[in-house]
Amino acid sequence: MIFEYAPAPESRSVVHLRETYDLFIDGEFTPALSGEHLTSLNPADEETLARVAVAGEADVDRAVVAARRAQENVWGRMSGAERGKYLFRIARIIQERSRELAVLESMDNGKPIKETRDVDLPLVAAHFFYHAGWADKLAHAGFGPDPRPLGVAAQIIPWNFPLLMLAWKVAPALATGNTVVLKPAETTPLTALVFAEICQEADLPPGVVNILTGAGETGRALVDHPGTDKVAFTGSTEVGRGIARAVAGTDKRLTLELGGKGANIVYDDAALDQAVEGVVSGIFFNQGHVCCAGSRLLLQESIAEEFLPRLKERVARLRLGDPLDKNTDIGAINSAAQLERIRELTDTADEEGVERWSPECALPESGYWFAPTVLTGVGQAHRVAREEIFGPVLSVLTFRTPEEAVSKANNTPYGLSAGVWTEKGSRMLWTAERLRAGVIWSNTFNKFDPTSPFGGYKESGYGREGGRHGLEAYLG
Ligand code: NAD
Repeated sequence: MIFEYAPAPESRSVVHLRETYDLFIDGEFTPALSGEHLTSLNPADEETLARVAVAGEADVDRAVVAARRAQENVWGRMSGAERGKYLFRIARIIQERSRELAVLESMDNGKPIKETRDVDLPLVAAHFFYHAGWADKLAHAGFGPDPRPLGVAAQIIPWNFPLLMLAWKVAPALATGNTVVLKPAETTPLTALVFAEICQEADLPPGVVNILTGAGETGRALVDHPGTDKVAFTGSTEVGRGIARAVAGTDKRLTLELGGKGANIVYDDAALDQAVEGVVSGIFFNQGHVCCAGSRLLLQESIAEEFLPRLKERVARLRLGDPLDKNTDIGAINSAAQLERIRELTDTADEEGVERWSPECALPESGYWFAPTVLTGVGQAHRVAREEIFGPVLSVLTFRTPEEAVSKANNTPYGLSAGVWTEKGSRMLWTAERLRAGVIWSNTFNKFDPTSPFGGYKESGYGREGGRHGLEAYLG
């Protein structure tokens, strides 16, 4: 890591934190009946950012009742054009407050400001604009003669893209006339609470959006509440399985966006400089806390000797440090628990004889940090080739033929993402047709767009978010 110059960090003064945040129910911030709180930390320095209410069963009930009332009396009766106006207004306020939201997201999550400012926030606004445009067109878009909202949606999201995951859930639900009760992750609740303020600022009718903070118990109570019509979950495969069991036997609709173990396949005829960039951003973007990360590099054996030194040279130039520094490429790991998980899996790789490489790099003394790591000599049976690490760790495997590349890429219980790097169109298509992944990028990686459906196969879940398919998931 080379720290040649130190630009001014993005100012924290744009963020106005409250000491304590209440729940957002029926258009108002209201204390939790449970009386409990959790603490949200800045993972870069372990400082407390705020105390946040924990919703219990009675709070979940209040929120679901408010959402039902709003859906039946107001939101579900409103014309699509009118709903669209609210969504456009929300999108514009997000743009106006994007600097504040980007800084807060970096503080609560640990991700670099460069990413929250240039990736997360523009995508969040784009998602609301896109769905605002759909709200008045549903009747004429082939969803059937009379597309109807499902009713009340329970939505549970993870910590890796807190506000973006909220946008992926809330925008299509609202555009289609549903109301929502959303639970953000316990380590990153703050931007969802600012989003609640934005709903107030946009004069969104009370009860249309309700935000319940809390941990897994709050999520469980929300899933189990009989008063919702749909459960939309993004998170780990393990929790997703439990939710599928809880919802089975009810008439609730369910979509699950779960984990991944994406393969980035680099053929010998790829444009190597471009491929190096794609492989590096494919795994080190957002500290590798990305469900569709290219966490397995499948490298054609004949170019391995040339490619790996170039890759390492590029990784050595990544800057790790203060998430609010505008030049930081790699920020903090989101929580102590996630850091522990990354350490546990990489320690196993050491025991299994995998070769570990990281650039020389001094980690900050406080906070949760993990140096970017490249693992070579990885075999398909190694845990780091099979399990989702969800951290800045790249597992490198090699292949000789396209058949072997496809077989190794598909040799995972997951099926979320893949990348293919080749200059030959025929090879690209041959490979893409055989990969079992919901998203396949060609000579690029980690590109997102609200118009494109996103989702997985196998243990990566089912249902799609984004595009026309994402709207279908909220219509009956
Ligand atoms: P997690 O499953 O631990 O938690 C996700 C959310 O579920 C949190 O809000 C949590 O509080 C809640 N939760 C926990 N236990 C629950 C329960 N029993 N009932 C209901 N809710 C419960 O996952 P995480 O560690 O926050 O997120 C990381 C995971 O999310 C990774 O596996 C990643 O791949 C996945 N992810 C998938 C996508 C996708 O689109 N496929 C996107 C982002 C993240």
